[in-house]
Parts: sequence; C-alpha cells; structure tokens
Amino acid sequence: MTTVSTNLEDLSWIPRPRLLALRRLGIETAEDLLTHFPRRHEDRTEFPQFPREETDVPICLCGEVIKTSVRRFGGWKKIFEATLEESQANALSEPLVCRWFNLHYVQKMIATGQRIVVFGKPRLRGKRICIDHPEFEVIENDEEISIHFRRITPIYPATEGLSQRVLRGIVYRVLHESPDVGWEPIAPTTLVRSERSDAIRAIHFPESWEARDAAREHLVLSEFFAMQMLIASRRFNSSARSGHAHCGSGALLDKFLKALPFELTAAQGKVISEIRRDLAASYPMNRLLQGDVGSGKTVVAIAAMLLAVEGGYQAAFMAPTQILAEQHYEVLRRWLEPLGIRIALRTAARQEESGPLPLFDLGSARVSRAGDGVTPSQASLEADTPNGARYFRRRLPHFEKPWAIYAVTIGTKKNRCLSPEARTTVLNSLRHFHEKRYEMFAACVMPDHMHLLIQPWPKGDDDKGKSAFWELSELLHSIKSFSAHSINELEKTSGSIWQKERFDRYVRSDRDLEQKFHYILRNPWNSGVAKHNEDYPWIWTQDDEARNESSFRRDAETSTRDACATQTNHPQIIVGTHALLYESVSFSNLGLAVIDEQHKFGVAQRARLTAREPTPDVLVMTATPIPRTLTMTVYGDLDVSTIDEMPGNRGKIVTAVRDTSKLGEVLSFLRTQLEKGRQLYVIYPLIDESDKLDVKAAAAEYELWRERLHPFRCELLHGRIPAREKQQIMDRFRRGDTNALISTTVLEVGVDVPNAAIMLIENAERFGLAQLHQLRGRIGRGEHKSYCILLSSNPTKETSAKLAVLEGTTNGFEVAEADWDLRGPGDVLGTAQSGLPALKIGDLKRDAGLMRRARAAAVSMFEMDPRLEQAENQRFRCLIVEQEGQSFSHIS
Ligand code: ADP
Ligand code: MG
Repeated sequence: MTTVSTNLEDLSWIPRPRLLALRRLGIETAEDLLTHFPRRHEDRTEFPQFPREETDVPICLCGEVIKTSVRRFGGWKKIFEATLEESQANALSEPLVCRWFNLHYVQKMIATGQRIVVFGKPRLRGKRICIDHPEFEVIENDEEISIHFRRITPIYPATEGLSQRVLRGIVYRVLHESPDVGWEPIAPTTLVRSERSDAIRAIHFPESWEARDAAREHLVLSEFFAMQMLIASRRFNSSARSGHAHCGSGALLDKFLKALPFELTAAQGKVISEIRRDLAASYPMNRLLQGDVGSGKTVVAIAAMLLAVEGGYQAAFMAPTQILAEQHYEVLRRWLEPLGIRIALRTAARQEESGPLPLFDLGSARVSRAGDGVTPSQASLEADTPNGARYFRRRLPHFEKPWAIYAVTIGTKKNRCLSPEARTTVLNSLRHFHEKRYEMFAACVMPDHMHLLIQPWPKGDDDKGKSAFWELSELLHSIKSFSAHSINELEKTSGSIWQKERFDRYVRSDRDLEQKFHYILRNPWNSGVAKHNEDYPWIWTQDDEARNESSFRRDAETSTRDACATQTNHPQIIVGTHALLYESVSFSNLGLAVIDEQHKFGVAQRARLTAREPTPDVLVMTATPIPRTLTMTVYGDLDVSTIDEMPGNRGKIVTAVRDTSKLGEVLSFLRTQLEKGRQLYVIYPLIDESDKLDVKAAAAEYELWRERLHPFRCELLHGRIPAREKQQIMDRFRRGDTNALISTTVLEVGVDVPNAAIMLIENAERFGLAQLHQLRGRIGRGEHKSYCILLSSNPTKETSAKLAVLEGTTNGFEVAEADWDLRGPGDVLGTAQSGLPALKIGDLKRDAGLMRRARAAAVSMFEMDPRLEQAENQRFRCLIVEQEGQSFSHIS
C-alpha cells in the first residue's frame, strides 16, 4: 500500500529515467511528489475560439498544427514557427502562429498534424495573431485526454527532463491508485476544516475553481501554521531559558540623556522604555529594533547598554563591518568616557581599550620617529610579520638605526627564578634608565624572563657633530648588570642572573608597535602565569610613570598594580564586528548584546549568541525595514520595537533621477554645494570588490572625479583598502579635510557624517531599491537640505519605475513595500537568513492575511500548551522537532 513515505522507486511502474529526473527535483517519496504543487491551473474544460485581437491576459488555446517553418535571422539565430488551426474551423477563423526564438528543442517536438495546447498572450504582428514563446503541450492520444484535458489542468513548475504531461501523469496515477496515503493533518481544525487528503487531491485536479481555491487556502494555512509553530517554539525556547535581569536604576542613563545635545524623539523614548522593561525582566530579551536610516537607533542602543552596565553587566555592540565598528567605538567613547565607562574595541584589525593607553593617543607623532624611514601610513600598508605574539631567538641587529624601537626579551639563567621582590627590583631597574638612556614604552617582568619595548636615545653629539645613539648591547648590559646587582644584594646571593638576550625585532609600524605592546601587556595572562581576573603587578606602561610623578609617590609595585587593574578590569562595553562571536573574546559577564544591521546577520549567528549560559539579552537593530508580513516570519521569534519618527532637526532629502547625458549640469550643481561647504559622496557600483580589474576601474574613476571636482579634495574608498587606512580616510572625511569621497558601497551602512549632504550615485539602475535607500540614508543627517542624485543611462521601464520610487518617498517602509511589489513575490530577504524552510505554496505577500491567521493559531496554541502535552496537540510536536533538526541543529 502506498503511504506518504513510500519511495517512488517502489512503485514499479515509474521508469528509471523518470525517477532520476524526479530525484533531481528533490522528489523521492509519494509525499514529495504530491506536495510538488502546481504553479497554476489552466481551464481546459472548453477551449475558447482563436482570438482575432490582442489580449492582455494569457489564454489557453487548442488547435491542430497545419504548418511549421524555420527562418533564420541575424546570422545564426533561428525562429521556429508553428501555425495552428482551430478544431472546428469556419470561414471566419484566423490561424494562430506560435513562434519560438532559438529554441532548437521545440522544433523537434512539434510536427504537422499534431494537436497541441498552447498558453500565452496573443499579439498582433502585422496581420497575423501570434503568441511568442507559448507554453505548450502536445496531445498524444485520446486515452490520456481525461487526465490532461477537459478539466482544470495543473501546470507544474518547469522541470528539466520531465514534461508537464509526464509529471502530471505520474501525479494522477499515484492519486488514483492510492486514494488514501495517510495524510496527517498539519493544521488544527480551528484553522482548517477540510481533510488534508482532499485538499491535496483538489490542488492537483480540482473539480472547479472554487474547489481549487479552497484547497489552496487549506494548504497555505497548513504551511504557514507549520512555519509559525517553528517560530513560536523558538520564541518559547528562548524565553524559557534562564536569564537574568540586566538593568540598573537608570541614574547613568539619565546622566547620559542630560548630556546629549538633543532631546530624544517620542519614538526613541517609547522604544527605550520597551527595552528597559525587557532588561529588567528575568527572561531573556529577544527584541528587534526597527527604524529607518537616521532615525537614531544608536542612541537607543547606548541607552540599553548603559542600563546593563549599570546593572553590573558587560554589553557588546556588534557591527557588520570594520568601518562601522570603528565609528561606533568613536561615538561611544565621545559620549560615554565622560561618564567613566570603559569601552574596548575588538575587530580583526584592531584591538583597543579606552582608558590608560596614552601611547596611542600620541600615536603617529611618536611612531613616525620609529626610524625605518617609513611614514606610518605606508608602514601600516606593508604586510606585517605575521603573528606579533610569537617571537624568535635572534641576535642583536647587525646595524642599528636612529630612533628605532626594539622589542627585546631577556631570559634568566636556568636555575634562577625571580621572586616577587626580585621582579619589582627588575622593574625599578628598567625605570632607572627610562628617559635617560632610552624611552621605554612597556615592560613586563615574568618569573623567568622579561619583555621590553624601548627606543634608545642619543648619547650626545659625536666628534663630527652627529648624534650618536646608545647601542642596544650597551643598554641591555646596563639593565642586566644593574638589576642583577640589586637582586643579589637583596637576596644576599651572587652570580649571574640573565641569559643572553633575545632580540625580537624592530618595530616597523604603528600597528606592529601596538601588537607588540599588547603582547607584552597580556603576556602574564596569555602565558598563564596569572589567572584571568588576577592582578599582575610587574607590568609597566608609561602611564605608571605619569602616576609616579603625581602628588604622592608610589613604588613600582602599587602603581603597576593599578595599571594592571585597568588593563584587566574588564571593559564594560565591547564594540566589535560580528566576528566578535567567533573569536574567543572573553566576555566575563555578558548581559546585553546589541547587533547592528541585523540583515547582515543570520539567525544561526543570533542563536549562537543566545545559546550562551546564562543567556544575555539580545537587541537586534535593522535599518532595512521589511514589509509587515515578512517581519512575522523572518523576525517572527522576536518582539518588535519600531522607531517611526525622524529627529526633527533633519534637513529634507531631495532625490532626483538624472540621465548621464546631464552630467554637466549635475557637476555644476555639485560644485555650488561644495562651495557652500557641504561634502559629497560619489558612489559607483562594483560588481566584485575582490576583482583586481575593479580596483583599477575604481582608481580610474577616482582620477576622473578629481579632475571634475578640482580644486576640491577627493579621496577614494573601496573594499580592498586595508581596514586601518579606510579608517583614516573616513576620519579625514569626517573632519572635513576631504570634500568628496569617491566610494563603492563599502559606505553602505551606518556611516554618519552630518555635513555630507550630497550624494551622487552612478549607474543607479544597477543597485537594488533597498540598497539605494540605505546609501541615501548617509545624507540628510544634518540640518542642511540634502540632495541625492541618481545617475542612470538608458533606463528600462523597470529601472525607471524602481528609481521613481525613491524620488517619491524617503520613507523606508514605503520603499520596502514598493520593492516587494516590483520584485514580485520572491523573498526579499531569502530564507537562508531566517533559518526557515522555503515555502512550497504560500506567497508571503498575497497570502498575508492567511499568515496572520496561522500565526495567531500557533501563538495561542503555545500559550495554552507550551509543551504541546495535550492529547490533541501532541501530533503537532513533529512540526517543531523534525524541522529543527534540519535548520536549527546549532541550538542546544
Ligand atoms: P541610525 O538609526 O541610522 O543608526 P543614528 O543612530 O546613526 O541613526 O543617528 C543618526 C544621527 O542622528 C546621529 O548623528 C545622532 O547623533 C542623531 N540623533 C539621534 N537621535 C536624535 C534626536 N532625538 N535628535 C536629534 N538628533 C538625533
Ligand atoms: Mg546605525
């Protein structure tokens, strides 16, 4: 007996090649086959007469082929024509011409004398009525007529290697040989009344259009219900996890809000209180913050993080790109450091803590003396010696350079282990020569070795008046003998203490210095000498010296302890790229994770975050508004807060589409704006940022723009520029040093420069609507009136319609809805990110009402019976379990 799980192979009547073709479609069982739903239906109960005029809707016609011909055009191209005549032709009947261009296989399938059914839009071509590229089906024998004709006939999604007729024949036979294959209902009877088996039969071979519609509704509701059960269970699972309240009293938040140069909008206030309620509750927060570009989500995120920090927890702020992470870091430092919040940056390219690392604030000025004759920006471009954390035994350098910085490691003799007192002595010895014979940047004394980062100073002028520098060997000798002497005195011992030193390397760039610096500072923890939360007092930075100079003197030990304390004292807010998740960043007690620009971040990644124990509160933010029905699915497991209001101080954005031929006018407009002091983004599309050719194209583009905008200053930004350099380019633009930024879409999300009020997008037709809207969101961030010019050449009807949407509205939700309309029912966001199964029959847009009903049913089922324990609900467990196995295996 055939059941839903019967393998089609076991039905002996399906020939092997057909089985293989089915398998290519993922159809192996009877269930797979019967849920391979028709794409549409054709009314073949009675064929209409051949038309004499064009029609706007496609129609289905049947006729006999009376003539075929092949014509060539444009060299090798071919047109195949088949002329059809109506069955009951009369004197008035017009023949119908079907044409196919360059489809060789059609020619082989159609011959004179056959009866065929065609489906398409009749068009008047000259005097003839033609259908170009109709779908067609050849009627082979009358026996089959009852399956394929004289009824409402199913048309399946196009399939390679399987004709409509064959597929339909197989479905028909399976349905008729096994009227009951044992379908389990998917949706509860409160949602659907009919039997699933009836709905399945009717969707393939409906008796009437009404029956077809009812069957479809049943199946769509079932499909949506299954999806919503999955979502509801996710939601239930995450709220059932143990969480904590992560909320302070709000005093810190008040202080922050008072210091802000603006008032919150009412919408911001509303969402902050929604978030606050979640933070204060003990179940984990899973909230989506939706708000158009520029609506001020960052402030809301900060507010949430402050509440968590005040509650004694760490907060993480994750951005999709390096540029954004750096920008958030800057913003947070500007606003939060005055409140005494410790913030750290963690990205693949840069790690930084705010607070006591003055070295990097002095930054390039100092490092430019690094002595390699390389300017810092170039230096950071060159490939760095990989892995600053490992060092090698090396001899001192053969030659030394003025103002070079050296990283040196000196080990103790085998039998000498430095006591705590001895380590303090060593540290004091190192300090002894600091700013006399060398400048020391950092040092760390371990039980059996020490690391230092030093820059030898000039001794004085030599005979010829040139500066002579302390040699490294001299310096190390001084350090060793001075410290050994003191230790022996202290420990009442004698003998040598130090081995021959290891010269690690020259410090070649500021990044290199930074790495080395961090290596040295982290060494006790990384090497396991000190436990993670433990102080290690024998670390020294210049900061300690500054403290020593201050009112009361302290010895090396206490001051370094403080320095270490700030080093290890975990940052309260960690800003980073999404990669934060994958690296072993040690959150000590993560209370809140904010994920910016959620659309670049999949469900799987989110799950990874919420799988931590104890579960942190999660706030995801998106500036890509999506239609409401999609929110119910893609973000269906999240609570949604929406900022539906823009800050009042915003200048208007005027958007205009211009043809490339008008570039001259556009340029003079741009220049007047630049003269007024505004800044400009020029965006151009690159297909593949990793492509060398494109980098070249970018450079050429840049030269062109430099000429066009001369004498205004331009800079080029694209994805292949190293992160650090990118950051510097952005900094110069932000400061107004640069007037125009010629950029690819690396600029896309989040960048915030209020004075940049003009944007020109080249080849605008090549971008999607959502992306254009995002890009446009970079302007209109200050009080100035902003202009977005979309350059486009020879736009088609579709691209004109697309660009016109942007001219018509700056509201992201409207853009999203229009985008959906224009692109049709396809997924706007793709199912991959949502971790939900692809839909087989439902259409998120057209069936929005059904989705709402399905969601309500799933939600109420979970509310009444969260573990699906009641007898009538148990059968729905498989909906969750099975599918979670496929798409959600990463959760517990
Ligand atoms: P987005 O929602 O796109 O992330 P941002 O948070 O970057 O927007 O905010 C855009 C700009 O608006 C920032 O410069 C921010 O300081 C400013 N801003 C945020 N809220 C307000 C407000 N209530 N009033 C005025 N300016 C605001
Ligand atoms: Mg933002």
